[in-house]
Order: sequence, then structure tokens, then C-alpha cells
Amino acid sequence: MIAEAAVRELKSRLSGQLLMPADEGYDAGRSVFNTMIQRRPALIARCANAEDVVRALIFAREHDLLVSVKGTGHNVAGFAVCDGGFVIDLSPMKGITVDAPGRTVRVGAGCTWGEVNDALQPHALAAAGGFVSVTGVSGLTLGGGLGWLVRKHGLALDNMISARVVLADGRIVAASATENDDLFWGLRGGGGNFGIVTEFEFAVHPAGTVLAGVVLHPFADARQALRQWREFEKTTPEEFSGGALLLHFPQDPSAPEPLRGAAIVGLAGVYAGAGPAAEKAVAPLRAYGTPLADMFQPTPYNQVQRMADFAFPPGMHNYWKSSYVKDLSDDAIDVLVDHFARVPSPHTAIVLEHNGDGALERVPESATAFGHRGWPYNFVVTSAWSDPKDTERNVTWTRGLYDAMRPFLADAAYVNYYTGDEGREGLHAAYGAEKLERLAVLKTKYDPDNLFRMNQNITPAESL
Ligand SMILES: Cc1cc2nc3c(=O)[nH]c(=O)nc-3n(C[C@H](O)[C@H](O)[C@H](O)COP(=O)(O)OP(=O)(O)OC[C@H]3O[C@@H](n4cnc5c(N)ncnc54)[C@H](O)[C@@H]3O)c2cc1C
Repeated sequence: MIAEAAVRELKSRLSGQLLMPADEGYDAGRSVFNTMIQRRPALIARCANAEDVVRALIFAREHDLLVSVKGTGHNVAGFAVCDGGFVIDLSPMKGITVDAPGRTVRVGAGCTWGEVNDALQPHALAAAGGFVSVTGVSGLTLGGGLGWLVRKHGLALDNMISARVVLADGRIVAASATENDDLFWGLRGGGGNFGIVTEFEFAVHPAGTVLAGVVLHPFADARQALRQWREFEKTTPEEFSGGALLLHFPQDPSAPEPLRGAAIVGLAGVYAGAGPAAEKAVAPLRAYGTPLADMFQPTPYNQVQRMADFAFPPGMHNYWKSSYVKDLSDDAIDVLVDHFARVPSPHTAIVLEHNGDGALERVPESATAFGHRGWPYNFVVTSAWSDPKDTERNVTWTRGLYDAMRPFLADAAYVNYYTGDEGREGLHAAYGAEKLERLAVLKTKYDPDNLFRMNQNITPAESL
């Protein structure tokens, strides 16, 4: 129980809102992308600025409340919300300041990548964010940040120049290569373990209009199309970042009949530029077979940021499994195709990303906390379904696919695609033993009481 007077006092001191279970907006505040996660916090602070974050954090400490931090709530594991504790919700913090000549942008912690690239588009600039527009800048960057510019410009976190951070003791500090550089190292991959970032500064890149899209093939051609994609990716320049997907086309009445609701293979990508060099690079992908549709075209980058949104509808129950791929053999492709033929939900996608052989690997492994820059391909199955009665069937299918894929997967995974049941084994797969040890030492320095533990939690060194 928290004293009413204390809550009233906190409320009066916040510029943003403080929500309790009976308040309007409470249910929206506690909701996250994955509707399987239903938690009921005692309090939600919808922070307007860094000072609100400090006040909320100090209140949580004083009242011994579990803290969770919400960027936009897209993490499938649902760590943004907690039961009975205090959600520090950053989603109202939407400030974006573009320095076009300097090619940088300052971004509030509540922004999505769609909002950032909308602000950059008039300057023909783009940020290296994610593959969709709706995900939060915060969680995506702090864990990594794979997106349509990854092979050319690296991860979102590779483009982070500085961050403003509220530490566990309530101090506000800067983190960059020149200020608190150890914290800056940990923020780039260590997730929300070390503090609450209220503002990011990123390097951004000329983009404007780029050649982007997807070629769609019938599922009956899946094996051959995926093999063809694999061969294409072996030679494609790093200007092109792309992936292959097995999915169902939406039941869209405006779509032509062969596509509507059909199981398909999508070979998608973005060339960081347009014109003859772009056309030439993408031509082999477009030339293969007889596609149901070829949607590649010159597109403003902020629209590109939205082109995959349809594949991840909101309001779904989600269970994801992911790992880097060590062997993208014909046998691995067969496993994917055979399992997708039995997929229980039309909202589920199997995704292969080609993120490597470019800028991601040029950053030395030791330069950031992000783990495993050396695996060029990533596998993720994004299981999603609408009816809670179907949960067991979908989770079982997802685990079955993952188990069948194990012989082809590396013992290494991307932390942001975790679903929440990975435990310490998952932490080791995300970082490796050496990095995990360094992260634990940093945790001891910046958050010795493990205040920030609603995350892929790195525990302080002494409890390792
Ligand atoms: C539909 C969909 C598409 C996705 N696509 C991509 C993709 O293309 N590329 C990619 O790399 N990932 C992708 N992801 C994964 C994504 O990176 C993570 O889900 C990420 O956590 C989302 O960020 P968020 O701020 O919305 O997360 P939230 O759920 O709000 O936060 C996740 C956790 O991050 C921490 N956190 C968040 N904000 C802060 C902050 N400001 N300071 C300190 N800690 C913080 C907290 O521990 C929090 O629990 C996708 C996820 C979904 C659901």
C-alpha cells in the first residue's frame, strides 16, 4: 500500500500524468504490443521530461516499488510493464531536433522510428532504425537495432553519438565517447540495465528516395525461391539490406485474388540509394522465376520504414524465437518450408535477415556491449495469433520449429528478439561469457541494487 498523500504529492510535482488503476488511460498505459502480457502496475508515470523520470524513480526507490521502463512497449517479452510496481512510461517524450548540416538528430525516448524518419525525410536524411515504423527508438537502440540500412550504416546503436541518462541514484548524466565512456559502452547493447535514457543523439545519413520493395512468390515455390535468395545475398553489395519471409498475405479485399490470404514467400530489401547502380544490384532478385508481384520501386525512405508494418499487426498474442544462423543449407530451408506448411496462424511469419557482410562487422566486437557481430544471417519466427484459446497450439508449433532448426543455428542470439523465457542461457547466447562479465561489473557500478531488473537482466557482479 502506498500512502495516498505521497501519491498526491508526486502527482502535483510531475509535468506529465500519474495514473492509478481507477484512472482513465490506465489500461492504455499498461498495454504493450504483445497482448499475451497483461500486467497491472500500481502506478504509471507518463513522463513529460527527464525531471519527471527522476521524480518517479526516486519515489519508486523510497517506496520500494518494482520499476519497469516503457519506451513504446514493443518488446515481445513485455518487460515494459510490471505487476504491482511502478511503470516509468517515456512514450510522451516525443521531441525530435534535426541538425541537417551536421547530419545528426536528437530524439526523445518515446519516439518511434516512423516518427524519426518522418522528421528526417524533408532533409533527404534517414536514421538507421528498424525494419518497421512502429517500434520504439529506445528499446531497439539499447539492445541493438537491425534495420533496412544495417549493412551500409550498421546497427542503430552504432549510430548513437550520445545519450542523456537518469541513473539509479537519480543523477542525470551524459554518456558518449568522451563522457562516462564505460556507461556509453554498456548502453550500446546492454539494454535498460544501467539507467533510463531520456534522449538519444544519432548520426544520420543521406537517403531521400531509395530503391525498395519486395518480390512475392507462391508458397509452392518456397524452397527454390529461398535458395535463390541465399545465392543472391552472397554477392549483393552492402548498400542492399534485405530478408526473406514466409508469411500469409493479409485478407485484403483490395488485393488481387491470388494474393489475398495466400501463403507466400517475400524477398524484400532496400538499396541505400536509387538510380542505375541500385537497379543493377537488385535486378537478379527481381529476375528470378515468375513472381506473383514485384513491388520494388523508388520510394521515400520514411515510406520504406512502413513497408513491412502490415506483417506485424497490433492486438495479437505473440511468441517469438530467434537465433543467428550458422548453416543456411538446403536442409535448413527444407525445415523452414516444411514447418511453415503446418503453421497454425496466418499472422505468423518466418523471417531470415541478412544483416552481415558490411558495416555491422566493421565495428570491433569489443567496441560495444552488443554481442556477436560475426553471424551474417539471423532467423526469427514471429508467431502471432488473435484468440487466447490458440496459445498452446502456437507456442508448441513455434518451439517445434525452433528445435528442428537447432542443428543449423549458432549458439548466439539477438537479445531484442527474445520472448522472455530464455533465462541465463539466453543471456549467455546474447553476450557470451566474457562480455557478460564486463557487463556485470558495469552493473555493479551503475545499478548495484538492481533497480533496473525488468529487462534481460544482467545481475551485479557479486551475485554472478
Ligand atoms: C513488430 C515488431 C517489430 C520489430 N522489428 C525490429 C527490427 O526491425 N529491428 C530490431 O532490431 N528489433 C525489432 N524488434 C524488436 C525491438 O527491438 C524490441 O522489441 C525493442 O525492445 C522495442 O523497443 P521499445 O522501446 O518499444 O521497447 P519497450 O517494450 O518499451 O522496452 C523494452 C525494454 O527496453 C528497456 N527500455 C526501453 N526504453 C528505455 C529507455 N529509454 N531507457 C532505458 N531502458 C529502456 C526497458 O528495459 C524495457 O523493458 C521488433 C519488435 C516488434 C514487436
